[in-house]
Amino acid sequence: MFSYRHAFHAGNHADVLKHTVLIATLQHLTQKDAALTVLDTHAGAGLYRLDGDYASTSGEASDGILRLVQASGLAPALQDYVDMVRAFNTGPATKVYPGSPFIAQRLLRDHDKLKLFELHPTDLRALAGNVAQLEAGRQVAVLHEDGFEGVKKFLPPPARRALLLCDPSYEIKSDYGRVLDMVQDALKRFATGTYAVWYPIIPRPEAHDLPRRLKTLATKAGKSWLHATLTVKSSQIVKSPDGEAKRPGLPASGMFLINPPFTLKAALQPALPQMVELLAQDRHATHTLESGG
Ligand code: SAM
Repeated sequence: MFSYRHAFHAGNHADVLKHTVLIATLQHLTQKDAALTVLDTHAGAGLYRLDGDYASTSGEASDGILRLVQASGLAPALQDYVDMVRAFNTGPATKVYPGSPFIAQRLLRDHDKLKLFELHPTDLRALAGNVAQLEAGRQVAVLHEDGFEGVKKFLPPPARRALLLCDPSYEIKSDYGRVLDMVQDALKRFATGTYAVWYPIIPRPEAHDLPRRLKTLATKAGKSWLHATLTVKSSQIVKSPDGEAKRPGLPASGMFLINPPFTLKAALQPALPQMVELLAQDRHATHTLESGG
């Protein structure tokens, strides 16, 4: 069974990038009346406590969302992200962090559908419990299934409009290949869907190859694409004063979208430099934003 628990990482810099992109994308996709299906292949627990044991141990939210909540003059996409997180908190402190299922659910209309896949039994139980508190009824389905395989039966969706978010933990090396195979298969089933893939930027060949291979896939299929990355620190292994090599933690991540909303690049253009400025952990912090097709 997997050891990855998103509760350690909730609200970190990777979530800032991923969830800002998710919100901007859904805001655009929910402008048309026709029903939208959102498929979240790797849902996690849905809601996280930032003052709980997991988040307090890792402290990752302190270098993520918690650096943004006090900031002023934010670009609209980043402000919308902060406002979304704040909407899950009643008091002045930011203690609750919404994962992708709850962010999506907030933005969907009554006639839209949300399909959530989660394999880890503990996260599944938490997710199902959190979803049960919603008044969303049949709008949200929680599925204890492998997300890579499970999405197939929902493509194409009835109203032929869908956003698929693929956000694995990449604990298993084969996840990289499975993402690519899943997107390739999904494009065959439903060529006009919007596909959003999060991936870590780490010194591992599969991680470097994934965006390159997604770009080739999109280009060959004649699809538009957008690729945004956020780096907050160097990936170099650092030595502590006692000479022990220390892993730097996740230094950077990327979002690759196929058939992105045409408004997304303009929304991210002012938001990404602000993420760099506010989330930088050393002088290597930077971003990239590319699109094509
Ligand atoms: N998307 C979530 C968010 O943004 O709030 C975070 C998801 S977390 C990075 C990845 C989750 O996928 C973990 O909870 C893990 O248990 C789950 N998982 C791992 N492999 C899976 C698979 N093949 N199918 C479905 N869920 C899986």
